[in-house]
Order: sequence, then structure tokens, then C-alpha cells
Amino acid sequence: MRRIPVPDKYLTFALMDIKIFKFGGASVNSAAGFRNVCRILKKNHKTGIMAVVSAMGKTTNALEIVLKHYMANDPILLIESFNAIHEAHFNVIRELFPDESHPVYDEAESLFDQLRGYFRKGHLYDKTKRAYDFEYDQIVSYGELFCSCILCNYLNLQGIPCKLFDARELVITDDTFRDARVNWEKTAEKINAAILPFFQNPGSLSVALTQGFIGSDPRGDSTTLGREGSDYTAAILAYVLRTSEVTIWKDVPGILNADPKWFSNPKKLGIISYREAIELAYYGASVIHPKTIRPLENAGIKLFVKSFQKPSSPGTLITNIDQWNIRFPIYIRKQNQVLISISPRDFSFIVEENLSHIFTILAKHRAKTNVMQNSAISFSVCLDRNEQMLPELIEELSSTYEIRYNYNVDLFTVRHYTPSAIRRLTKSRTVLLEQRTRHTVHLVVK
Ligand code: ASP
Repeated sequence: MRRIPVPDKYLTFALMDIKIFKFGGASVNSAAGFRNVCRILKKNHKTGIMAVVSAMGKTTNALEIVLKHYMANDPILLIESFNAIHEAHFNVIRELFPDESHPVYDEAESLFDQLRGYFRKGHLYDKTKRAYDFEYDQIVSYGELFCSCILCNYLNLQGIPCKLFDARELVITDDTFRDARVNWEKTAEKINAAILPFFQNPGSLSVALTQGFIGSDPRGDSTTLGREGSDYTAAILAYVLRTSEVTIWKDVPGILNADPKWFSNPKKLGIISYREAIELAYYGASVIHPKTIRPLENAGIKLFVKSFQKPSSPGTLITNIDQWNIRFPIYIRKQNQVLISISPRDFSFIVEENLSHIFTILAKHRAKTNVMQNSAISFSVCLDRNEQMLPELIEELSSTYEIRYNYNVDLFTVRHYTPSAIRRLTKSRTVLLEQRTRHTVHLVVK
């Protein structure tokens, strides 16, 4: 990635220490959650804070269901699922703002109205509906808009002066909907123009708030950065503003060596290198979005992962240290995978031309390849199971190759593996594919 210089005229302000705090959905899944976020900000807002917030709780999943009914032209289910989201947000608003004349009621309602209007605008029945990925970004991005509207109003109510910046005016991307690529130059220009003047006024020692996950393309249509993309938004802001640190507030004490949902007594990693964090995120450790680390590493920005339940505990620090300081295995489980094995129909060998043809097809369908392996007569890939793209991908591959596939397999990755770590995972499972390098083993299991 090219470095983005901070223009000279902004340098004095760039030196001011702005902290970036990112709050994920779990931290704002209830009125109590908003109160807790407010407490964390209150403790820290003596230095300038740029806060990034995602959608409330599981709102993004709920909006995906709304989208499904919208795409299927099902007005009853569409309204039902939309109303459930409306109610969840207004329950929180009523708890946080007992005074029903508070402007947040109108502001939030007008966002819901915008989305209602989008559905109504003839989109439901006519042919103006565009491709799934485009519609996804226009609709699902509202989760972040609803949540940031509530948080900004609540912080102000609690005496923490907060200004809301629309992330669609800060993060400029291309039009790869659902996985938009950042235009760094344009984004740096927008962020510097909007955010630095805000922190320039010493009297304003307060919070600048924006939404994670969302941006806009040059036509002004909403885009999203991929699921869990709010971490990446925090990194983009940190990189452009050249802050010294970013904190991601999570519902875990830091980065653990395994997911506590399926592994008892996981250990917390105190400090790890950027490289280790990239490997972990890439192979599916759900604690950080994979694109987050690179910009931070490039600019030497420290990343803390901390618990919003125990804000004074140290959490995990990701920084520039020796990559191999880890002395125990780290387990990563990626569920909902599909293992596809591809062979030439005439039982000939897999050769370079086949591979390049197969990769072209995978890239065309935007398949996320997690592991691949080839033998003389077949090539295997382990992919995220994505119902939108898989049937078409398999159909296209089947027109040239013999295809076998296993749905519902898990991909385990063990960093710094030991024989007993592998035994622990394979004891009661069938291993369909195994791949080892010096520090990492991948196991596709059933
Ligand atoms: N709200 C989005 C999601 O659930 C983005 C994020 O939380 O980071 O994926």
C-alpha cells in the first residue's frame, strides 16, 4: 500500500494525540450498553477521541433478513422484519431518553422513514431493483446510521460534547458493493478536511463520532467494507490522522488463544506482533477484521483490544515486536466452510492451464479461498459457504471439471502447533485435508 502523506498545512494538528475508539455491536446491544460506552468515553475524553460505532447488537443480521424479503418481493415479511428492528431501537431510545420531546425521537424516526421511503419508492414490485450486492449496501448500512444517531444524542445528553460525522462523507470507496476498496487519496482528503478542524479547537475537547463499516462510492451510493468492517474504519481513520493508538472495545478480555465458545479456559495473549495478528485475522479469528492491521503496521500505530466490561484491564497490545514470542498454540475455527475438489474430466493431470482457469472462475465469483491444495489429478479449495455465489460457482466449474464437494465442514488453523494440539482437534473428527507449514497447520474436518 502506498503511504498517504498528511499535507503540511495539517501537521500541527496531526501531532495532537487523538485516540481512536471502536465500539462493536455487542457493546451497544442495550440501553445498559450505551451507558457503559458513555462511561468509557467520559473517563478518556480529556484527550481528543474519535469514536467509531457499528450497528446495535445483531442489527446487521436482522437487516440482512429485511433485505432478503425485499429482494423476494414479500411485503408482509418485509414490514414485519423492519418493524422488529424499529422496535428494538425505540425500546433503547425510550430507556435512555425518558423525555419524549428529545430530538433523538425525530432524528431516529426520520432515518427509519428514509429506509421506508427506499422500499416504497416503487422498488418493491418493479424492475428498478438492482443487483443483490448493491441493494445490500443501500439497506444494511442503516444499522450503523441508527446506532450512531442514538449514541451521539446520548453522549450530548450526558455532558460529553459529541459531533456526528457521516462516514459516507469520510470514507470514499470504489463500487465493489459489500467489499468496497478504499480510495485512500480521496478518503485522506475528506478526513483531513472534516476531522482535523474539529480537534483544532482546544475548547472542543470532545468526541467526534462516526459509523464503522460504511462508506460511499464516487456516485454517492452507500458501500460497505465487508462484515465486521468497523475495525477497518477505525484503522483508516488512525492511518490518515496518524494517531498513536487505536482501541477496539470487545466482549472478550483481549485476543485469546481460542474462542471461549468452543474451548475451555483459553489464554489471553498479552502482546503480539502485527504479523501474528494479520495471520490470525486472515484465518478467521473473529476478533479483528483482516484488513485492519496493514494500515496500522504501515504507520506504526499501536492497536489495543480491550474488554468493554473491564475497561481498566490491559487487554492485548498489537505492535511491532518479535513475531515468534508466542509459546503456546493458537486455535482458530472457521465454521460454515465448503471443501471443493476439482479434477479434469479425462483424468489427466492438473496442470498450470487448469489452475489458471480455475482461479479465473474463483475470482469471477469473488469466492473467498481459505486453503488450497493440489495433487496430480485434483485441486482442492476450502471456501466460505456463501449461498449467493456457490451454486453458480459450482455450475460453472462443473461445465469443465469433475466436481466433488463437502458442505458444512470446519477449517481449523493452529498457529505454533504441537502434536498434542493437533491430537486435541482430530480426536473425534474426520480430517478431509491437512496442510502444514513451519508455524501453521490447517485442518479441514467433518
Ligand atoms: N455491523 C457490521 C457487522 O455486523 C459491521 C461491524 O460490526 O463491524 O458486520
